Parts: sequence; C-alpha cells; structure tokens
Amino acid sequence: MNILKYFLLIGLFVLLTVTAFAQEYDLVILNGRVMDPETNFDQVTNVGVKDGKIAIITEKTIGGTETIDASGLVVAPGFIDGHQHCIEPYAYRLMLRDGRTTIMDMEIGAHGPKLNEWYKRRERNAPLNFGASVAHEFARAEVLDGFKDWKYLYTPDAIRSRVKQGWSKTRPTLEQGNQILALIDEGLQQGGLGIGSTVGYMREGVSAREIFELQKLSGRYGRFIDMHFRYTPGDDVGETNGIQEMLANAAALGTPAIAAHFNNPGYNMVHELLVRMRERGYNVWGEIYPYAAGSTALNAVFLEPEVWVKALGNKYEDTIQDVATGEFYTQKSREEMLKKEPTRVVLVYKIPKSAIVDWIKMPGVAIGSDGMPLFPDDNLTWDTPYEDLPNTHPRFSGSFARVLRLARENNIPLMQALSMTSYNYARPLGDMGLKAMQERGRMQKGMVADITIFNPQTVTDNSTYAKGTLPSTGILHVLVDGVIVMKDQEPLKGVNPGQPIRFEPAKSRFEPLSIEGWTHQYYTSPVDFGGGVPGSQPNRMGAPDVHPDIHGH
Ligand SMILES: [Zn+2]
Repeated sequence: MNILKYFLLIGLFVLLTVTAFAQEYDLVILNGRVMDPETNFDQVTNVGVKDGKIAIITEKTIGGTETIDASGLVVAPGFIDGHQHCIEPYAYRLMLRDGRTTIMDMEIGAHGPKLNEWYKRRERNAPLNFGASVAHEFARAEVLDGFKDWKYLYTPDAIRSRVKQGWSKTRPTLEQGNQILALIDEGLQQGGLGIGSTVGYMREGVSAREIFELQKLSGRYGRFIDMHFRYTPGDDVGETNGIQEMLANAAALGTPAIAAHFNNPGYNMVHELLVRMRERGYNVWGEIYPYAAGSTALNAVFLEPEVWVKALGNKYEDTIQDVATGEFYTQKSREEMLKKEPTRVVLVYKIPKSAIVDWIKMPGVAIGSDGMPLFPDDNLTWDTPYEDLPNTHPRFSGSFARVLRLARENNIPLMQALSMTSYNYARPLGDMGLKAMQERGRMQKGMVADITIFNPQTVTDNSTYAKGTLPSTGILHVLVDGVIVMKDQEPLKGVNPGQPIRFEPAKSRFEPLSIEGWTHQYYTSPVDFGGGVPGSQPNRMGAPDVHPDIHGH
C-alpha cells in the first residue's frame, strides 16, 4: 500500500513537471537549422519563444503552447525590406509569402507633417512591422507646386504629386529652401527614420547645396539620408558620381547614408566605396534588388530623349516596356502616352542579367525590393486573389525568395544570402540608435522573435515581368513579434502583431539657413538655396537677386 502510494506520488510529480515544462514557452520551433548572420551560428537545434522574444536556443528538449516542426528547414531572422513603397493590406500576403517581417519605405518616405498619421493608419492593422523616412520630394511638391492633397498617405501620393513639375525642376529661393527643410524637420521630430531623397528625379531642381543641407539636417538627429542618387539610372561614371555626392557629404558631416538600389552600371565601384568608408568607421551602406530591369513612371526626367537616348545611348524600343500591356514604347508612343497618363508605370531594362549573381556575392549589401503600389488600386484588399492583382515589377513579390534561389543555384553561401535579407539593414540602423533594429535581424537569445522558416532546397520566386504578383514558394512559416502570421504557407488574416519601426518624438533641431550665418562662418555668401556661386544656372548669370522660376508666390 505504501509502495503504491509512493509510485502514485512519483507519477503525479512527473506529470506535473512535464506539464509545466511543456508550457514553459509560448511557442517552440524544433529541429530546424538555426542560422544567425551576426555570429555565424549555424546548427540544427531548438528555439523557444516567450513574450515576443527569442527566450532560448538549445539542443535540450523544450515544449510550448504551440509547436512548429522545422525538421529539414532553415530558421532565419525575419526578412527586412527597407525599400518597399507599398505598405498596404493588399500587399501583405505577398510580403509574408516572400518571408518579409518588416517593410519600410525609406527611399521616398512619407510627407513630414503627415508622418504620425502615416504610422497611425497602420498601427494594430498590419501583420508585419512597418516604417518610413521623411520625404524630400513631397516637401518640394508642397512648397514649389502648392500640392496639398495628402489624403492617400502612401506612395501613390508620389504619382499624384508628380504630375506638376516644380518639385522636380525648380530651384528654391532661400526662403523656399527653409520651408522645405522645415517640413522635413516636422517628420524627423515625429520620429521618421531619416530623410528619403529621390534626387535622381529632381536633378535639375536640386542643387548640391540642397542635398548637403538635407544631410546636415538628418545628421543633427543622427539619422540617415537614403538616396536615389542624382544620375540614377545612368552609365558607370554618372552612377558613381551620383553616390560620391552623397558620400562626400556623409564624410564631411559624419552622418549615416544609404545608397538606394545601386544595382546599375558602376555597381562594383560603388560597392568598393561603401566598403572602404565603412572600414574608416562611417555608417554608410547600400541596397539592391535582384533584377536587371527597373520600374518607374514614364515621365521620369531620366527617360527624356536627351538623357535616355542621346546621352545614354538607349533605344525606347528595346528598353521601355509598359507594365500593364507588355508593349515596348517608341519615342512617338511615349510622347502620346505622356499626354494621356504622364505617370504611367513602365519597366526599364538597364543592365545585363549576368550582373545579378555578382550583386548577391557582395558583403554588407542589403536587399531592398523597391516594390511599388499597384495601379489601379481602388478595390484591392487582403483577399484579392494573387492572379487578379494588376501587374507590376516582379521585385514587388519575389525579391527575397529570388535571392535565396540564386544563392543556391550559384553556390553562394546561404549565410551570405541571409545577411543580405535581414542583418545588413538591422545592423546599420541599430548602430544609428534605432532600438527596434538593435533587437531584430538576428537569431539570438533576447532578440525580438521575427522569424522566417523556409525550405532551402525548394525556396523560389515565381513572379515574372509578365506576371509580377505571384507568391514565392518554399517559405512555410513566418513569425512577427513572436506571433505566427503565416503557417504552412498560408498567411493568417486578421492577425496583426506588426510594430511601428520609428524613433521617439524629438524636439526640433532645425536651424534656418541665412546669408548672415553663411557669411559669418564660411566667408562665402550663397546667392540662394541653389548655390553659393552666382550664375550656377544660366538664367541667373550676373543677376543674383532675380528668381525667374519661383513658384507659389
Ligand atoms: Zn528609386
């Protein structure tokens, strides 16, 4: 009798222990190949998740309320896309299918005074994390074109605000320049990640001085400029000179900087510049999307015949394709379309395909998809079938799985690919003081459990130029903030743990520019926001106080 009692007690004790043990974690991921690009940790092991964080990585048996069997799968830091313009419900399923757990629009960004609204629109309403920088071009559109129709609060604002041309072609006066900087400063005060500048679309209107002052302003907050640089897309000299403008400023000011999509002619030189500057302690980095063609609006200044055909030697017939119809443009059909729909979306073929594998080998480079909103987007929702979404560049849906597939097919180490898909954004952004990124992009104890689990043998992109909205396959499970948002390749509707990625509100650090200030400090007096050298534009020659192209007065 006593012995029986004894065994019953032991049995009860074991049962209680096992039960407590089994529920120790909210979720466990068992027997996966856990890979961490920061430490090079690469081992088949178990991961326990609790309260949104990676609580343990261990070979011991662990249990949790939920279990994911990751046998044969890779368990990687969730993919971070710092160049995604479409942060909208109809995009989220495709983002998750491609393994992305954070999407941020750092190149165009949101309008400064509207930054809080931009975030509010997505809070508790997104399965993945989201963020934005502060837009240079929107501030210019408001000051130089009087554009105020910001109701869309996402990148289609760019399509609407780009119809007039002042934002692109007008040099501001000193007063207008201060207004532009003040609008951007509002967004930085509201916690914007940095400044996004699409100067490549504004190469006539934006002076070297204006870029320098932007970098000075973001630098006052310790934040980056993310630049579509001045001569992109161009030839190898123009591309390189474009980024040298940004890097020289970054060096003079000691401020962080990002080279957006430098997958263009000259990329090898750009990459070396970035590597060498990092070796000297500068926080500068670059991103690419793994495709040979780009995509933009038909009225982009660099597609004008003087640039695209005359200077760069391209033919429209070979290089400019309509995204919706698949037809290539001629000079004549381009002109006709510009009258009807100036911001029509096109594909731009600009570099041989063979370069893509080169890009995926480059250390320290991040993947930014440059996905754009779909047009028309009026009736698109989470539930719209993939096949029914309007066509777009395949980078929108396939960039990250494509990098993993290309790495596999070309014997590029998987760890190198995984550094590109997560860590190479998280590290420099974390170094900038962005807490949300100090604890992401890594498979380590204590990090936020943003995790992407995929089959390394089968993972692939499926989107093509003909159909750019097909989901990637081979990525099976995705966690955001410790919550499963995709299970067995099925994104879960209404599960929205996505966090805002942003800075805390800050006091203004903007100091308006003045002639007196310049003269006092540097003994040179700028004519206006455009210069410092009288006659920097032909129509200004010898007439420093005449501003023939002022808008909005
Ligand atoms: Zn761009």
